Amino acid sequence: MMKQWLDIADEIKQIYSGKEFVPLHEPTLGEKESEYVTDCIKSGWVSSVGKYVDQFEKQLAEYVGVKRAVAVVNGTAALHVALKMAGVQPGDEVFMPSLTFVATANAASYLQAVPHFVDVSKETLGLDPYKLEKHILEIGEMKNGELINKNTGRIIRTVVPMHTFGHPVDIDQLLIVCKRYNLALVEDAAESLGSLYKGKHTGSFGVAGAVSFNGNKIITTGGGGAILTNDEELADYAKHITTTAKIPHRWEYNHDELGYNYRMPNLNAALGCAQLEKIEYFVSSKRALVNKYKLIFENFDGVSVFEEGTQVKSNYWLQTLMIDRKNHKLEKVLEVLNAYGIMARPVWTPMHKLSIFENSPQSNLEVTNYLAESLINIPSTPLKGEEE
Ligand SMILES: *Cc1c(COP(=O)(O)O)cnc(C)c1O
Repeated sequence: MMKQWLDIADEIKQIYSGKEFVPLHEPTLGEKESEYVTDCIKSGWVSSVGKYVDQFEKQLAEYVGVKRAVAVVNGTAALHVALKMAGVQPGDEVFMPSLTFVATANAASYLQAVPHFVDVSKETLGLDPYKLEKHILEIGEMKNGELINKNTGRIIRTVVPMHTFGHPVDIDQLLIVCKRYNLALVEDAAESLGSLYKGKHTGSFGVAGAVSFNGNKIITTGGGGAILTNDEELADYAKHITTTAKIPHRWEYNHDELGYNYRMPNLNAALGCAQLEKIEYFVSSKRALVNKYKLIFENFDGVSVFEEGTQVKSNYWLQTLMIDRKNHKLEKVLEVLNAYGIMARPVWTPMHKLSIFENSPQSNLEVTNYLAESLINIPSTPLKGEEE
């Protein structure tokens, strides 16, 4: 008899030792987390000052291979500041995928800039550099070294690729387009900590990168994020404006520009230090999981397990199925899996379909629309003793 979705649900449960409910992604917390957090509480330094923030920033920068990391309250705040570092001005347009979490588009909007949506690639699930250039040739013109959208008159200075579910975009090709049109690259690497493109960590390629440590991400600080950069001066600037732009002084409160209270509390950083020690295990375990899913869906018509491309190493943050709608109804698949205790969910509603962004400029978005109706995520929590 042909395998049914109920059988699939059963097999997924078996991967997770027969659990009644299998969530999409659970944080893995242990002794080390308790130890560091307890140490933090005992020290009394739970808030905006303390050794764990410095330690976490240092270890994170080392891990990713960038000069500096600045820890902040969440990934959205990191993106907001990273875009500011890249020089995004009010009234600018910012190229980004429509197939992303709302934070990418929100961050640009916080700076009174306008998201400009560009289509993605079926191979990477991220921004398609060839489509980007084709679109630029249609709508753009260079004036005094700046790219102008001929239709709106606005300047476009920045591109924000997002490494969907941990899969790196085609960075080399994107950098070529950036150079040709004088665009600054800011990576939304919120989902891709631990993913490599040609051996280099995502988040380290542009002016700045943003990562997230929300509870569902590959490592968590409860809530948190960080800005990554190789530019010491920009890192200092990021630190300054994320700590209310206060001029250091023993007792005086002076602030030299509009600042933000975005600093990560010490308590969260303590959790982050413990989590960072385990990241290689998380990545390795998630990479092993894809092979289990491939076995489950072998010979199952109309479904393919999304796999990393060549020259990249994905952290496989969320496991992804591509469903052929000719064979399966997406709604039905989601209904069966969720009813049977397997948490599964579709990808985000694309940004150009949200009322807040429906008037934003956009390229042809056919692949985005196709993927939005074809992708689902399935349980992806790392498994103990199941590393690559
Ligand atoms: C998680 C995420 C963010 C940032 O999220 P926070 O919840 O603010 O930490 C940004 N972009 C993408 C694509 C994300 O998945």
